[in-house]
Order: sequence, then structure tokens, then C-alpha cells
Amino acid sequence: SLTLAERVSAIAPSATLAMAGAAKRLKAEGVDVFDFALGEPDFKTPENIQEAALKAMRSGQTHYTPPSGIPELRQALAKMYSETRGLPTQDVQVVVSNGAKHSIHNALMAVCGPGDEVIIPAPYWVSYADLVKLTGATPVVLQTTEANEFKLTPEQFLAAVTPRTKLLMINSPSNPTGVVYTRAELEALADAVLKSDQVGVLSDEIYEQLLYGDAEATCFATLRPGLADRTITISGVSKTYAMTGWRIGWSIAPTPVAKFMGDIQSQETSNPCSVSQWAALEAITGPQDSVVAMKSQFTKRRAYVLERIAALPDVTCIAPGGAFYAFMNISAHLGRTLGGKVIGDSTEFCLTALSSAHVALVMGSAFGAEGYARLSFATDLTTLERGFDALERFLRH
Ligand code: PLP
Repeated sequence: SLTLAERVSAIAPSATLAMAGAAKRLKAEGVDVFDFALGEPDFKTPENIQEAALKAMRSGQTHYTPPSGIPELRQALAKMYSETRGLPTQDVQVVVSNGAKHSIHNALMAVCGPGDEVIIPAPYWVSYADLVKLTGATPVVLQTTEANEFKLTPEQFLAAVTPRTKLLMINSPSNPTGVVYTRAELEALADAVLKSDQVGVLSDEIYEQLLYGDAEATCFATLRPGLADRTITISGVSKTYAMTGWRIGWSIAPTPVAKFMGDIQSQETSNPCSVSQWAALEAITGPQDSVVAMKSQFTKRRAYVLERIAALPDVTCIAPGGAFYAFMNISAHLGRTLGGKVIGDSTEFCLTALSSAHVALVMGSAFGAEGYARLSFATDLTTLERGFDALERFLRH
């Protein structure tokens, strides 16, 4: 029989997708499920972007493209980072990939390997640790605390640096906590990074445009002179433009790294989807009113969700400054009986919430933080209202 490669044991299937799958199965049985598991906007991709894709398709843009992306999109991204993010960027530093997840994979493949360590603050996005393990490198997970708003401190980072440390992974606004580091906090981390010669940074800025209140996006690579030479910036169209299915993300990297990422991609996938690239070009260069409209919906939902969480028994949550997640502290419920079951951990909490209340959440353990459950509010207000009613009944039982 065909035996599996050793690296397979390092990879767990994405827990968010697994929870979404369980919710889907329940829905297929005819159950009315309140699905707060998946991290994707429920909006349709804006019309102007769809039109650009149709136009591209009809005008024959249906062939292989250069491996790192069409020149028009790379140029537009270089211009966007240079002019709006304060990061002087040349076209050759841009690699367009099949979603930001793929960009992160390429970036890690380009700079990490066996023997290297990658520092990941927890709670972290589910894929980080597994993508690091795929390269043969070792994830070094640093636990942050809710009391410190789930933010990594420079002291914590410096205490974890070894001669093998290759990268620090930063994600602000964060999935799953919604936490947004202030500029000053990131500057302090940048100074800590610059204390060593060999540590680079992978800054995942995919939620950069989904911000609430006075939270501000910061492009990490711009914070200190020389930082851009050791930082890989990641973003994409999935979250900002409701384009998860189009699979377009990108990286801005030092030129030699970008070149190698393009080479890897040329062997792996040839190029990202041609039509999607033209759609992404329209997304970033076309009218931005749909982004404003979606953001205003997210703002309303966030306020509603925070109000409902505050009324849940023994559940707390720090207010997310960005993204569309509420990371609820459910630790007070561990050891209690809910839905007829004794709840031992966040997985049992979420599985029971799904089977008893038909509410789909993702267990904190999937993000490296036991005692929490992530609720995505990329769902319409009516579903949120009904879902919270069900969750509240479940917890009050
Ligand atoms: N990074 C973070 C923090 C995310 O939450 C996600 C999606 O859930 C991604 C990257 C990947 O996005 P995509 O591959 O759709 O561009």
C-alpha cells in the first residue's frame, strides 16, 4: 500500500473549515444552523469587480500569466504600497498568489527550513503553525494574555529569540481576537526585532481595511529604516472586497525573496487565476464605495455582537478593533453541564453549542488558546439575533 510521507503527521486539517463542515452537515439534515464559524464576508463581490472579470474573460485573458502575476496588477500594488502605505515598493517585490494563505506558504518556503524557528504569538490564525511545520521549521508559540489584550510584548519576544530564530509572524488586525496593535506597540516590537541581525518578520495585514473606532492600520515594514529589507508583508482581496472564492493574495518582499517566491510558484501552480487577477486589479484601483458600505455593516454588527455578549452569562470578550471576530472567554463554563453534557474544554463547548443550540463557533484551542470560542460576525443581523437568542438559552440552561 501507499505509505504517507512523514510531513503528513505535522498537518491537521483547518479547524475552522472542520467546524464549518460540521455545521454544513447539520444544515443538510434540514436543521436551521446559525453559522458563526467561517471567516468570510457574506456579501456578494461588488458589481464593478464582477464586470471586470467578465470583460477579462471575454477579451481573452484566459491564458497562463507570468508566474508572479500580471504586470498591471503588480504595478498597481507597488503603486498602492508606495503611495498609500508609505512603503516604497518596486513591481519586482510584488508576488500575486492564490490567496494570502498561499502567499504565506510561499514566503515560509522561501525563507524557512529544518532547524529554523518561527515565533508565533497565540492566539494565532489556525494555519500559521501548520504552514511553518510544512517547511520543516519549528513553530515557537508564545502565549499572550487577555489582560494584555492578546498582544505580544517586546520582552516576551526577546526572551524567545535564539540563534535559530528566523521569523516573527505578526497579524494585526488579528484573527481570531480582532486585536489591533497601536503604532507605538509595533514600533517597540520593530526595535526588538532590529536588535538581532537574523530575525525577519512576516506581517499578515489582510484585515488592514476592516477597522473600528479609533483603531489604525500600520504597515509594519515602514516603521523603522531597514525593516523593509527583512519584512514580508502579506495581504489580499478576500476580506476587504468579499472575494474569498477568487483566491487572490499578495506579498511585498525584499527583491531576492520575491524572486524566489515567484520561482516556487512557477513550479507549484504556474500562476494565480488570470481572470481573478483582473478582478483584483479592479478591486484595488476601482471605486471603493462598496468597501465603505460593507464596513458600515460590519460596524453595526460588531456593536450588536458586543451588546449581546455582554448579556451572556459568564462570557466576556475584549472589543475587537478590527476584522470580524469576537473572541469570547468561555472558561467559566468549563466543568459545567450544558446541553446535558459536562463541558471539559473549548472543543466540547463548541460541539455541544452546535448540537444543542445549533450555533457554530470555533474552539479557541484551534487558535492555540484554550478556554475561548471565536464567533465570526460576517453574518447578517437577523441571523446574529436568532443565533444569540439560541446561545443565550443554551448558556442559561
Ligand atoms: N490571514 C489571515 C489572518 C486570515 O484570517 C486569512 C483567512 O481566513 C488569510 C490570511 C487567508 O486569506 P486568503 O487565502 O483567502 O487570501
